[in-house]
Amino acid sequence: MNLNNTIKKTALLILLVLNLTVNGQTKSDIDSPEYIIQIDKSKRNIAKIEANIILNDSTIKMASWGHPWLKHGWATFVKKLNIKTESGQILSYKTVDKNGWGKWKVLAPNGTKVHLSYEVHFDHKNHDWNPAGGIDSRPEVTDDAHFLVSKALFIYSPGVKNAKIKFNIPSNWEIATNWKKDKSGFYFADSWISLVNNALVLGNFDKKVVTNGQMNLIFAIDKNLSKYTQRFIDLMQKQLNEFSKIYNGTPNRNYLISIRKADEDDGESFQDSFNQVLTDNRIEERILIWGNTMAHEMFHYWSRGYSIAGESEDIAWFIEGFTEYYSTISLKRTGAITEDLYLKKLEQFLSRYIIAKRMWPVDQVSLVDAGKEKAKNWLFIYGGGSTMALALDIEIRTITKNKKSLDDVMLLVKAKYGDNQIKITTANIMEAVNEVSGADFTEFFKKYIYGKKDVLKIKDIVSKAGLNFDQFTEGVYLSRKKGNKKVMLDKMIGSKK
Ligand SMILES: [Zn+2]
Repeated sequence: MNLNNTIKKTALLILLVLNLTVNGQTKSDIDSPEYIIQIDKSKRNIAKIEANIILNDSTIKMASWGHPWLKHGWATFVKKLNIKTESGQILSYKTVDKNGWGKWKVLAPNGTKVHLSYEVHFDHKNHDWNPAGGIDSRPEVTDDAHFLVSKALFIYSPGVKNAKIKFNIPSNWEIATNWKKDKSGFYFADSWISLVNNALVLGNFDKKVVTNGQMNLIFAIDKNLSKYTQRFIDLMQKQLNEFSKIYNGTPNRNYLISIRKADEDDGESFQDSFNQVLTDNRIEERILIWGNTMAHEMFHYWSRGYSIAGESEDIAWFIEGFTEYYSTISLKRTGAITEDLYLKKLEQFLSRYIIAKRMWPVDQVSLVDAGKEKAKNWLFIYGGGSTMALALDIEIRTITKNKKSLDDVMLLVKAKYGDNQIKITTANIMEAVNEVSGADFTEFFKKYIYGKKDVLKIKDIVSKAGLNFDQFTEGVYLSRKKGNKKVMLDKMIGSKK
């Protein structure tokens, strides 16, 4: 140990302690709102919440998105809201009706410490949640457990940086969350987005924690799916191994995977977690459905947040398309699916792209603009985005004689932008492709990503990977070219060393 460093560290520690102590209270006590969430066995449909927060902008609110355009958003399900000052004085408040999406105005100065008490009634299932991403995007209370989304629970004031959360629930209930627990028994959400944008499971379910590098995967699996628990864990471990090869290891985070039985198959990813709903039906035969959803939502950890510092609409084609590309190719790389299934999935990417490009008389839109209306343009965003990923992977491998690939682009983007908390644009993706390939992809991006007229010459591109491409309207078929022994396809679908 270097003595000089030790002295510096000690001095720093003293400074930190001095800094943290303000009027006898630690700084984190002042900064962090505290929430206590109580659910009683006899009233399982209601969460009673007590919170201590600091008022900013005379506003308290809930996350504004993720609900099916309800006028009051997540606040639709909030009842008995009471607001008091520290000294117990009751504060009046007013619901913001116009564009509030779950917002209240409270008449008190900035910086006032207020105590909130309110109930959240889990009646979300009475609304059609399809316009907001499906049933996997809302809370569901089953006979055994509460499969929650944190957006439904927290009222906060703007500018909140983190929060402490404690649960007051029946003693035989489990808690599954990505938030880490501190010594005081509080869980700690280390950012606003972590507080409002995560899954959370309480009750009786299969809880398993597995470690992958620095990452803890916390599984919360519906008791109705218990017989598949190990199957799900094995698959996700393998997929995560593949992702960690692309991204040079796993981050030091807890990540929650919540899986419940439903009568449909879907998935929704959050900051450090995802929800999956699954039908209990021919599980092994349907691995491309649920396995791809699991891998897709897990890959979003990087492709929606960690590697690109957050979502923006001009890169929706990258976020969704590249995620589809990587969930599918990683399933093949780990041997979870056969080559036939893999090619079938590629055919779907291409088919979606071709259909979206041939829609008539619908006006064409470019891939960068498609994300402005994600619901309307989903076919093009997913199909076009995954087709671009396939094409770029093949082109980069062709130019670099298989020395580089799209994997290197993903890592470069993470290192350059994600690690430095810089949000990326489509131009940054192009720069990364240029840097990795040593070539200039300006024309490619101009034509197929910024432009809306040109259609990618798929046959020529997949031919370089050793594949035949046969097409009649939207029906597309891929097959290995006969007689070619060493083909690029084998490199693409081989597991990274
Ligand atoms: Zn997605």
